[in-house]
Parts: sequence; structure tokens; C-alpha cells
Amino acid sequence: MGAVPHLNKLAEELKDDEVQFLLVTDEAPAHIESFLKERSLPGWIGVDSNKDTFGRYGVSTIPATFVIDANGKLILQSSPKGLTANLLRRIAERTPKPKPPAPVFIEPESFSERGGWMVDQQVMDLMGSPYMLAHGLGIPVPDCSDTVDLPGPGTYRVWVRTRDWVSPWNAPGAPGRFQVLLDGTPLETVFGTEGEAWHWQDGGTCDLNDKVQVSLHDLTGFEGRCDAILLSPDTSWVPPHGGEELAELRTRCTSLGLEPKDGGRFDLVVVGGGIAGTSAAITAARMGLQVALVQDRPVLGGNGSSEVRVWPQGHTNQERFPHVGDVVSELVRDHGPGHANAGDPHVFDDNRKLTLALAEPNLRLFLNQRVNAAESRDQRITAVTAQHTSSGQRTRITGTLFLDSTGDGVLGALVGADYEITETEHMGASNLWSVAATSKNEFQLRCECEDEGDPLSLAFDQSTSPAPFPRCPWAVDLSERDFPGRKTGAGTGNPLGKLGAWFWESGFDLDPIRDMERVRDLNLRAMYGAWDTLKNVDGLYPNHRLKWAAYIAGKRESRRLMGDVVLVGDDFRNLKPYPDAAFPCSWHLDLHFPEPAYHEDSDPFISECTKGEGFTYAGPYWAPYRALYSRNIKNLFMAGRNISVNHEALGAVRVMRTCGMMGEVVGKAASLCVLHSCDPRGVYADHLDGLIELLKVPGRARRASVDAALVIPPAPPIAPPANPTNVGVDPSQLPGLVVDDSKAIVEGNWKASTFEATFVGSHYIHDNRSGKGTKSVRWEFEVPTTGSYEVRLSYTDSASRDPQIPVTIEGAGEPHLVSMNQRLTPPHAGGFATVGVFNFDAGKRSAVTISNKGTTGHVIADAVQLVRENGQ
Ligand SMILES: Cc1cc2nc3c(=O)[nH]c(=O)nc-3n(C[C@H](O)[C@H](O)[C@H](O)COP(=O)(O)OP(=O)(O)OC[C@H]3O[C@@H](n4cnc5c(N)ncnc54)[C@H](O)[C@@H]3O)c2cc1C
Repeated sequence: MGAVPHLNKLAEELKDDEVQFLLVTDEAPAHIESFLKERSLPGWIGVDSNKDTFGRYGVSTIPATFVIDANGKLILQSSPKGLTANLLRRIAERTPKPKPPAPVFIEPESFSERGGWMVDQQVMDLMGSPYMLAHGLGIPVPDCSDTVDLPGPGTYRVWVRTRDWVSPWNAPGAPGRFQVLLDGTPLETVFGTEGEAWHWQDGGTCDLNDKVQVSLHDLTGFEGRCDAILLSPDTSWVPPHGGEELAELRTRCTSLGLEPKDGGRFDLVVVGGGIAGTSAAITAARMGLQVALVQDRPVLGGNGSSEVRVWPQGHTNQERFPHVGDVVSELVRDHGPGHANAGDPHVFDDNRKLTLALAEPNLRLFLNQRVNAAESRDQRITAVTAQHTSSGQRTRITGTLFLDSTGDGVLGALVGADYEITETEHMGASNLWSVAATSKNEFQLRCECEDEGDPLSLAFDQSTSPAPFPRCPWAVDLSERDFPGRKTGAGTGNPLGKLGAWFWESGFDLDPIRDMERVRDLNLRAMYGAWDTLKNVDGLYPNHRLKWAAYIAGKRESRRLMGDVVLVGDDFRNLKPYPDAAFPCSWHLDLHFPEPAYHEDSDPFISECTKGEGFTYAGPYWAPYRALYSRNIKNLFMAGRNISVNHEALGAVRVMRTCGMMGEVVGKAASLCVLHSCDPRGVYADHLDGLIELLKVPGRARRASVDAALVIPPAPPIAPPANPTNVGVDPSQLPGLVVDDSKAIVEGNWKASTFEATFVGSHYIHDNRSGKGTKSVRWEFEVPTTGSYEVRLSYTDSASRDPQIPVTIEGAGEPHLVSMNQRLTPPHAGGFATVGVFNFDAGKRSAVTISNKGTTGHVIADAVQLVRENGQ
């Protein structure tokens, strides 16, 4: 009791400090109570009647004093008088603050039920993880949900990481509103309603059991977004809103904190599965390399996938190396006229690209995984780490060679590769979109055909289902302004076709990586503003709806990684020759900038492009291999829109087929690196002849390993037209020896058709008037008896055909080269015309070959017929 005045004094001195006093006694409670009536004691009083605590602390004499820090650690044992206020303060300051009890960190992108919410990974490098987006074009999307385990029953505070996405423009209305349901009951707070920046919105407290079903419930269909949900048992704790503290919390509480999985070791690690990366990965795998292809989306194709829907341009299979472009042509089919940007999803052939990649035994696909870390030593990359966009699981992939085909130069930037970026006045990004009648497809088609005529006089009311659209006060206000597709907008043609086209573009002065969420959101605000104006101000299209809009931004320009050659615009204009010319460019110097007619403010969203003489060149221009590897990272290739070009030259190389051909060149060059144990630069310095030889090899050529012999499999049969318009002649009913095109050896991309009436077999094929000098059809046969035969070829004649088509006959003796005019009507049954009379030896393999070399018109190949002079 003698120490009580000292302790009381201490307690008084420390009353504003974080020091608590706890007195433990073995006296009976009644005794203590009567004592307290006379004198006060500091702090709490505990009764240890069986001296249990005394025993555990080894107390043999009293009074004894112990100082315990906030983490429960015993710091000091002394007599009460040995304690001073200063000593206790110093201990409190030195003591590490206790960590709050771990909250339950929920990443909704990992939910087993996604409903209609989309995983948006576009800014995950900035945020640490993807977020969920309610991209419903104005119609609330179905809930996403999952059941979550909790540490135990109790009261939890709910925090929801979100933002009001129109707040950067001070726009009214908070369109991205959503609720969080716990076991089906909505929290009172509506989320997505405040704050420009991503932050934790407080959802209040609630009592939960040890499991809870968590759902996101969209209220608007207008791009609500949720990054994460926290359920905190410490209801007074406020989570960090960003920076390293948030990153640390996320890592500590989610699977990001787990050791990365071992993804394996590869000869070539391709990062980015757009057309460039996919072409490179398939080519390298066929050349016998072990290849990893890491893509942060569920589909391959990048801008050319059904998610972004940009239509491929650029010419493949050009004369210098006619096989450069073979793999691109396998991936990206020519669907004929009528297809364009923002078309129906199936024409973007996602499944075809996946199937082709999966068919390669040497290729391992890492889908839905974003590379966001890399290791390097001595200017050489050794490994990359990819984070799964839904589970957060990280995978480490090691390799000998790496390819950056991310479009953004992500890998290059991670390892310090030299790059350039045009900070302002660069090309922007688009989120293509389209509209449709609400009725069945046939009505929609009819409507679109009629649009061609007198579009604005049409009522667009073929459908009987009205499709109201809400006012969007938070969107770009276009009610008083022109825009493409509005009645007052410039130009002629189908106004619906101008909505959501390539020129709905923004972000010209914004950072294509750091500001990408804002750029995409401006595109969406422009779309919603335009549709609101057309529907609600102009009163047009009562039965139309927004049909589709990309939520993944289609990017044009970003980081450009610097190589040993940096291509510039004048290289194209002057057709500057390079010894390592490797891929043909055929698109003009197509740069974009804001269209002045449509912009009154600083946030432009409609573009125009460079046109005219200064921006064209006499293509194809063969660009050099040295623009496809880094000048300072020894084992880094690049392909696609992040190659070594300046801003102007990017305008020419960035079209999809050209990007894909860069990938093919990289795939072949990488095989030489592995074969000769050299870096990409060494291929130019020491093995350029080898590269040139490989560029001449068909894209379907393959070998099991890099030093095995190349095998060129027969070209796959050409698919017959889906809806034949005419029926062909049965070859078995024709006289003589007849070999149809279906049995021929075909080089290059030919198209099957039944459009014209007279042909043999199921169809004829034509060169589509493209790839001149690169396509041929060879019919091989053996004649039954040695002698002279009349050689005939069948074709469908028309004025568009070429009049001088080279035909080579390999029979007895030297080959003969003759020419054929397919504008003339063929005189013989089955559509055959005579090429000449030639000698053939029985038992010897003979051949007739037709080619499109030197032609300008269409070249048709159908069947060859050999008849003896008696007509048999
Ligand atoms: C609106 C628009 C219209 C256009 N019009 C045409 C046209 O009509 N015809 C034409 O041919 N071209 C057109 N272009 C250009 C063309 O689309 C691009 O230049 C081309 O797609 C580039 O191909 P790429 O493979 O280099 O990049 P991308 O297509 O951008 O593909 C890169 C891929 O890598 C992925 N990725 C990025 N970072 C990572 C990472 N860290 N880890 C894993 N994966 C990652 C991306 O998600 C993406 O799928 C247009 C572009 C736009 C935006």
C-alpha cells in the first residue's frame, strides 16, 4: 500500500499518454471495495485469488511492477518507485504500434460468379490489381458474388474501394452507383458516389457470422466500378487510401503475398498477345523454340480481338519474301467486304487465334496474366513475373530471350530499355461502339440497307419495341453541338455508321499509360452524350439501342522502344534501302490529331488523320530487322506498335497485319539466336543470310527442335464457300485425266468461290487480286501412256481476269512456259481452254503450274485436263 501515492501521482502525470495501469491483488473483493471507499487507486484492479497471475509472472515479494508494451511484450520489471513518467513515456514511444487485426481483403475479380461485371486490368500496374466494371450501356448488369470466409462471428466495418468516375470533369450525377449486398441484404450506403480518386468508401458496420455471401449490385449500367472490399473486425480502423501502405496491406492480406509459382524456363518469353505477340509466338514455336506467351486478357489478338474490334489492315505476302505474312493470314482471315471496325464479334476470330496457338506443342499460353515485374542482370532480362488478373496468383517465368509486344513497351520500361514517348499531340485511344435496332436481325439489316439511301428521313421504326434511354447529365453535353452522326454533322453517308467509328478518339495530350482510365472514360462520356442527344434531344432512333462498346481502350500510340535502327518518316518517303529489310509496310503515314471542327473545349474526342501526298509512299516499303530489337537490353526483341520508330513512322507501321509480320520475323530471328547462341544483334551481325533464308520459308514450316530439319507440311485445303451459289461439274464425268484444284498444291492465300456458273468439283479458287507474284497452284499427275496430250485448264472468264497468266508445263524434256488469257470464254465442256499440246512420259511425275506473277487482274485456278488427240 506504501506505493499507492507514487502510482497515483504517476497516473495523474500520464493521464494524457497511452499508458494504462492495472493493479493485481490477491485480496478478497469485499476487502478491496471497502479500501476503495477510503482511498483511490490508479487504473483497473484485477483480483487473482488463486495467485495464478502471480505465479506466471514469478512474483515472490510484493509490491512488484511490470511494464508490458502494446504488443503484450514484457519490457521491464521493477519496484513501483523505480518507475518515472519519463521512463514510461520513452517505453511507449519506442514500442512498435500494434498491427490492427487483419481485415478480410476481398478482390471481387476473384468472385466465382461474375454476373455481368467485367474484369478491367488496364490500370492494374498503377492500382495493384484489376477492378470490376459494370459496363452495361445504361442497363444495370447482373450481380457478381461469392461466399467469403471470415475469422469468426462479430461486428465488422465494411469499406469499399471505388470512385465517382465522372468526378474529374466535375460532372453531376455519379452515374456509376452500386450497392454491396451481404447475404443478400444491401448496405445502406450507395457506392461510387464520391471522390475523384480511388478511395475506401465507408459502408458502416454490420454483424456477421463466420461466412458471408458478398455481392456487387449495379444500379445504373453506367460504368460503376469496385476495386476491393474490406471487412474489418477493428471497426475504428481506417484503411490506407493508396501508396505503399495500401500496397503493403493488399500484399499482406491477399494471394499477392504468396511466393510466385514457377512458370518454367523457355527459349523465348513473349509478353503481350496482340497480333504481333501471337504471330511471334506461333512462328518461334514452329521454328523449334520452347515459347511462353503471356497475355493479360482471356483472348488473343489485342486490338484485333472481339474485345476491341479493330479491323486488320496492311498487305502481307509481298514479292521480296512472299511467305512473310503466312502466319498472320492464318490468324486473321479475310472475311471479304462488308466487315469493318466494331463489327460483329465472330468475325474477329478469337477462337481461331486461340486454337492455332493451342495447337503448337512448343508453345505454352499464360492467359489472364499480366507481367508487372522483371529481373535483369548486365543489361539482360532473366525472368518476368506475371500476376493473374482474377486470382492474383503470381508466376515467375524465366527465359533466354524476351519479346515485348505489349504495345506499351511495358517489359522494356520495367528493365530500363531506352524508349521514347510523344508526350503531347500524339495519337489517342478509341473505344469503338455501335448501335442497333432493338428488333430481330432481319429488321436491323433492312434498316441498315435503307440507311444508305436517305438516312435521316427514315423513322428507324421497323422494330415495334421502343428502346428508351435515360438522360445523361454527367456525359459530355452534346445537345448544342455537332458531332459525326448527328443531323447537323458534316459529310454524307450512313449517320449510324459514323457513330463509334475510329475517329471517336481522345487522349491526345494525356499519358497513354498513367491516364488511360481517364482517356477511356472520356470516350465513354462522349458516347453516352451523343446517344443521349440523338435519342432525347433530337428524338431520333426510338427503337434503337447501344449495341456494343469496347471497355478496353484501343490504343494507338505509347512507348516506342529504341533499337539499332530508329525508322523515321523520311525512310518511307525516300524508300531508304536496308540490307536487313525484313517486313513490308504498306499503310500511309497515318497520324491522328483532334478534329478542330468539333472541339470547343480542351477535351477533344473526335480526330482526323493525315492525308495527301506528304504522307504516302510507293509501298511496299521493306523495313529493317534492326528496328525489332532493343539497343541497350541485349536479349530483348520488340514487335508491334512499340517498335523502334519515331512518332511519324509509327503512323505507317502500326497497322495490324504489318505488326503481325514483325512478329513472324522476330520468331524466326529468335530461332537463330538459340541455334547460334547469340543475341538479337548477333543475328544481324553474323547470321543475316540465315535470317533471309528463313524469311523465304513458308509460315507453316516447322521443326521439333531448333536444330532439327525443317519440314514443310502440305498447305491445308482451302475451305469451300459456306453458301455455294452454283453447282460444279463432276470431274469423273469428264473425258481424259482431270485433276481438280482440291488435289493441287497451293501456295499463298487463294479464295474459294462458286459465284460464276461453270467450274469443276465443289468450287474454283482465285487469287483475290492480292499477293501478286506470291501465289501459285500446281497440279501433279502421271499419264497412263507415254505420248502427246492436249493440256487444258478450266476457269471462269470475265473482264476482271488477267489476260497474261503464266502457266508452266513440266512433262518430257525441258519445262514450257506459256501464257493464258482468262478474259476469253473457255470453249470446252467444264469451262476448259487449251493451253497447248505437250509430250509426257508414263510413270514420270509431271505437273502444270499456274502463277499470279506479273499479273494485275484476277487469276482463276480450277482444274487441269489432259486429253489424247482422240479426245480421251
Ligand atoms: C480505334 C483504332 C482503329 C485502328 N484502325 C486500324 C485499322 O483499321 N486497321 C489496322 O490494321 N490497324 C488499326 N489500328 C492500329 C492497330 O490496332 C494496332 O496498331 C495493332 O493492333 C497493334 O498490335 P500489337 O500487337 O502491337 O498491340 P495490341 O493490339 O495493343 O496488343 C497488345 C496486347 O498485349 C497485352 N498486354 C499489354 N501489356 C501486357 C502485360 N504487361 N502483360 C501481358 N499482356 C499485356 C494487351 O492487353 C494487348 O492484348 C487501329 C487502332 C485503334 C485503336
